[in-house]
Amino acid sequence: MSYDVLIDKYLCIGCRFCAVKCPTEVLDLRNESVAFVSNIDKCIGCRICEQCPEDAITVIGE
Ligand code: SF4
Ligand code: SF4
Repeated sequence: MSYDVLIDKYLCIGCRFCAVKCPTEVLDLRNESVAFVSNIDKCIGCRICEQCPEDAITVIGE
């Protein structure tokens, strides 16, 4: 099963919740102010990242 994770960069406030909570380190910020997908192949579709407080993340896939 493969997934896609969409991040709305206009909604993201850079709180890091998604990067900290993702169990497989799919999401990252590094020195950026908005989150980005760094390793989509590791996504297990748990959807924890969709708990983003700004509703900026959508996970696609079953
Ligand atoms: S949880 Fe949402 S607002 Fe916070 S860094 Fe991730 S995408 Fe941005
Ligand atoms: S769905 Fe789960 S594994 Fe995939 S990016 Fe979100 S938190 Fe990480």
